[in-house]
Amino acid sequence: MTTLNGEDEVAGLCRDLIRIDSTNAGDNSGPGERAAAEYVAEKLAEVGLEPRILESDSRRANVVVRVEGEDPSRDALLLHGHLDVVPFDAADWTLHPLSGEIADDCVWGRGAVDMKNMDAMILAVVRQRISEGRRPPRDVVLAFTADEEAGGEYGAQWLAAEHKDLFEGCTEAIGEVGGFSVSIDDARRLYLIEAAEKGIAWMRLTATGRAGHGSMLNAENAVTELAEAVGRVGRYQWPVRLTRTVETFLTETSRALGFDFDPDDPEATVAKLGPLARMIGATLRNTANPTMLQAGYKANVIPQTATAHIDGRFLPGYEEEFFQTLDELLGPNVTREFVYHDVALETGFDGPLVRAMADALVAEDPGALAVPYTLSGGTDLKAFSVMGVRGFGFAPLKLPADLDFSGMFHGVDERVPVDSLKFGVRVLDRFLDAC
Ligand SMILES: [Zn+2]
Repeated sequence: MTTLNGEDEVAGLCRDLIRIDSTNAGDNSGPGERAAAEYVAEKLAEVGLEPRILESDSRRANVVVRVEGEDPSRDALLLHGHLDVVPFDAADWTLHPLSGEIADDCVWGRGAVDMKNMDAMILAVVRQRISEGRRPPRDVVLAFTADEEAGGEYGAQWLAAEHKDLFEGCTEAIGEVGGFSVSIDDARRLYLIEAAEKGIAWMRLTATGRAGHGSMLNAENAVTELAEAVGRVGRYQWPVRLTRTVETFLTETSRALGFDFDPDDPEATVAKLGPLARMIGATLRNTANPTMLQAGYKANVIPQTATAHIDGRFLPGYEEEFFQTLDELLGPNVTREFVYHDVALETGFDGPLVRAMADALVAEDPGALAVPYTLSGGTDLKAFSVMGVRGFGFAPLKLPADLDFSGMFHGVDERVPVDSLKFGVRVLDRFLDAC
């Protein structure tokens, strides 16, 4: 077999994946991930691997393959990336989101940031290593999943429930969202590695009252009851709760920026983080945002019920407090039920795998400082964690200082610099040598 060069291939792989429409509207109606999965499987089969395409439903396809390591008696490492992307409105974009065009030294399109970039980096580095006959020190399981953007029912959740055997021995995992750089100055960059995720509680609220004529007295109006409860939840100032990961992040970041971290005023540090403050600020506390309201059908009819939806996110270790507070805010006349409920995660930023990530970054960027952070959203890691896997978000990218990377997740004009992808391939290669 001729040897392949991951740095040469990675932008093309990313472009090809972006050109395959795998948008996921969340209702199982779109094109599915089948075509993307076939592409990925073909690229893996080309170097002699034997990937499996696993469909959870028509065209909802996942790809899993095990790369044998030098010491198969060691626990395995899971490398995972999702193949689906969120929908887009092409009119808002400079270049068509499915064009995968390479312009201004960037690959453009939906998924360039979330997360066909990492899928391409994984493919590129694995293809190169296999073509050179270089095995990782232990088994590495690659999983390319469907449906992450809608909670993973047809992807990671389904794999963890129906194909657990394929992940035999996996105790650690690497996936999104993390490993990207945030510049401190010309010489130094923070690399944010996800070590924790907030939990998710999407809820439907219902107030039930007494239906009746809009012209008469009614002290049991469901609309009034619900509106007040929603107002209390929406305006509530959730107290700051410093989790281990957030405290480490703020301490390290403050030191790098040249001032002392004051645990009594964490928001002072967050305020200095620029565009990153939106994401990091949400990890200082639980949150609950009202997102939908429904009630009534005619101006002179008081309906019997009124409903609302709340997007709740709780910190690791603070789920109980979250629901206790929420129930106090809702009061006795509003009930809640889950539309979606998933765990919060947190793992220590220590051990050989963390060292392998930090060392690989420093080897390629001497100004790199790896710091753990908490993701305000969720990833496939939640589903894989059920199998006892400890995971990190590590899709390494050295980015230009002026690129608002975190703002491009699900945003318009998603793009990733070609040089950043090449950097990612080199870092992942070193990481896999040491994993
Ligand atoms: Zn993603």
